[in-house]
Formats: sequence, structure tokens, C-alpha cells
Amino acid sequence: MQLMSVALEQLGWTPFFADAFALRAVAGDVPGRVVLEHNHVFRVMAAGGEHLAESTGRMKHRAEARHELPAVGDWVVLRPDPAGGRGQIRAVLPRRSVFARKAAGRETEQQVVAANIDTVFVVFGLDMPVNPRSIDRYLVVARHSGTEPVVVLNKADLVDNVEGAIAEAQAAAGTAAVLAVSPKTGYGLDALVRFLAPGRTATLLGPSGVGKSTIVNHLVGHELLATGEVRDWDARGRHTSVHRQLVVRAEGGLIIDTPGMRELALWDTDTVGDTFGDIAPLAAGCRFRDCRHETEPGCAVKTAAESGGLDPERLESFRKLQREQETVERLRDERALIDSKRHAKTQNKSLRALYKNRERSGT
Ligand code: GDP
Ligand code: ZN
Repeated sequence: MQLMSVALEQLGWTPFFADAFALRAVAGDVPGRVVLEHNHVFRVMAAGGEHLAESTGRMKHRAEARHELPAVGDWVVLRPDPAGGRGQIRAVLPRRSVFARKAAGRETEQQVVAANIDTVFVVFGLDMPVNPRSIDRYLVVARHSGTEPVVVLNKADLVDNVEGAIAEAQAAAGTAAVLAVSPKTGYGLDALVRFLAPGRTATLLGPSGVGKSTIVNHLVGHELLATGEVRDWDARGRHTSVHRQLVVRAEGGLIIDTPGMRELALWDTDTVGDTFGDIAPLAAGCRFRDCRHETEPGCAVKTAAESGGLDPERLESFRKLQREQETVERLRDERALIDSKRHAKTQNKSLRALYKNRERSGT
């Protein structure tokens, strides 16, 4: 194990967490931040260095919901092992922000992908037209998690009119900051780094191929914790190599880059329903329970929008997102249908072949 002293503030420690820790800790406990999760074993960075740790049996038992278990970025109450072995995570401190998704195969369970992120860089590539709706969707996901989104237009070296591209994206981004960068030329990276003040945690979201890995590599070029590969143990006790998922930059700021963040997709969260919490109570007054607040008669939401009880623009963005999400769901259903049809087709084919053979052989 590698021991390196680091100030808790550099890891994002604030009075909020200090208060929460004081309420839960007993003698022998120290605060630490989860920098890696691997097969339910956690790497936790504390003031005195890094520890391997497991969540206590009691906590596992109590955690009926998976979101109560530690995740990368979490601040935890750690009981280090005096002998230098695996310590115990006795509690997870309340989170300032959470990226969660539905646990695979379980309707209502939330799985926390990362916690306590301050800034989300929503990255797009200027080698392709940036879809304003796409900006909208990612911003909703970022804000829904409790973080500050920043739109990053990457590959600025590929366009002549960077200002124009920024203005277009800004129209869709509203109050969120919009930056153009190019790790290839170094353009705009200073502005990006300004969001990484000491103790501030950032992550990257966006479609694949837009340059997220390239940007991360530039941002963590100088790491305070020798990231490289760390040795860990899989379930059978074999050594495996894994990368830290939370990295502390020598220049300040932290980057979370987990596989789960990469896969985070819009349909994993009930974004439309959750973000438009003001529309839900109004919708209770609609005549139809499945009212989409578009053209249905007796729609209380539309009435509110017409009579000043609801900002009409807000209803419009609600409808826009609703349609987006429906498209995503329809595409997914269509894919499932195609798969089942393909399956039926091959089955029919083999049945037909079977009958044919029977006809021929006269059986
Ligand atoms: P990710 O899927 O979002 O992680 O994207 P990558 O970081 O793998 O980058 C995708 C491609 O974009 C790679 O071929 C990169 O070399 C390229 N790329 C990244 N940044 C830039 C840039 O600033 N300018 C140009 N022209 N290409 C870039
Ligand atoms: Zn309605």
C-alpha cells in the first residue's frame, strides 16, 4: 500500500462533511474519500494515506437499497485496520450530489454511479453539428444530480467560427457556461481548468467519440496521487490491475472518471418526471390519467399555462423532453421487437425445413 499525506481539503473536505462526520464518528474512526471501487472492495484516501476497505456487514445488511452503499466520490467514516489490512467503512456521509441510475433488472432500485461532484463538463465535438436537444438532455441529467453543468465544445481546432459555435450552443444552454476547447492545440484549456479549483470535483459526460478521454488525459497529466495502475484483489484473491476512478490533480481539483459515468444514459433516470416537479401536482387535475398535456381535453396543465399558473415556456420544454424520452423508449422497443421477430423467423424457418423433410420422406 502506498502512503502519501494529503490535506483533506484537497480531497474536497468541507465543513458540511466535517459536521456529518462528527455526528457519526467514534474514537478510532477517520474520514476518507472513496477513490476506487472494485469487486466491493474500496480504496479510500484519508489524511494519512490510502486504505483498502470493505463496508461493514452491518451496513450491508441495513442497506436495503443499493444507494446506501459507498460509491466513488463518497466521504465515509473509515475504521482503518491497525495491522495495515483492510479497514471498514462504517458509514457513508450524506452526499452533496449524486449520479444514479436504475440498477440493472430492478425497476425501482437506484445504483449510485458517483457522488459529491461539483461540476459536470458536458462534452460535444465540433466535428459534428451539436444538437441543441442533446445539450438540453445532458443539462437536465447534470442538474438533476445536483451539480453545475458546463458545456464544453471540443475539437475547436476543426472549425473556423468558434464564436458562432459558442453562441449557438449558448442559446440551448441557457444559464450554463459554454466553452470551446481543443486538447490537440491547447486552446481554451485554461478556462476549463478554472472550474477545477482545489477541492472541487468534476466529471465528464457526453456522447462517445467527442474527446472525453483526451480531455481527461490532459487534465490529469500531473497527478498528486500516482494514479497509474494500482494493485487490487478480485473475488478469488487474485491480483488485478485497475485505475483510480477519482484522481487528485497536482494543480488542484479532482476528476471522477468511472466506467459507470461513461455509460450513464438519459433513459436511466426518470428525468422528465423528476425535473418537472411543478407539473406533476397540476397533472393530478387532468381528466385523463395518462394525459400528455398536448391536445387532450380537460388538461389542467394546459389550463394553468394559459391562465398564468405555469410558465408556458416551461410547459414547452416539458413537452420537448417528454417527446425526446418517448423517442428513446420507442427506439428501444423497436429494437426489442426486431430481435423477437428475428428469433421467430429463424424458428419458422427451421420448422418449415422440418415439415419439408417430413413431406419428402413421407412421414
Ligand atoms: P471519447 O470517446 O469521448 O473518450 O473520445 P476520445 O478521447 O477517445 O477521442 C475521440 C477522437 O477525437 C480521437 O480520435 C481523438 O484523437 C480526437 N480528438 C480529441 N480531442 C481532439 C481535438 O481537440 N481536436 C481534434 N481534431 N481531435 C480530437
Ligand atoms: Zn394534462
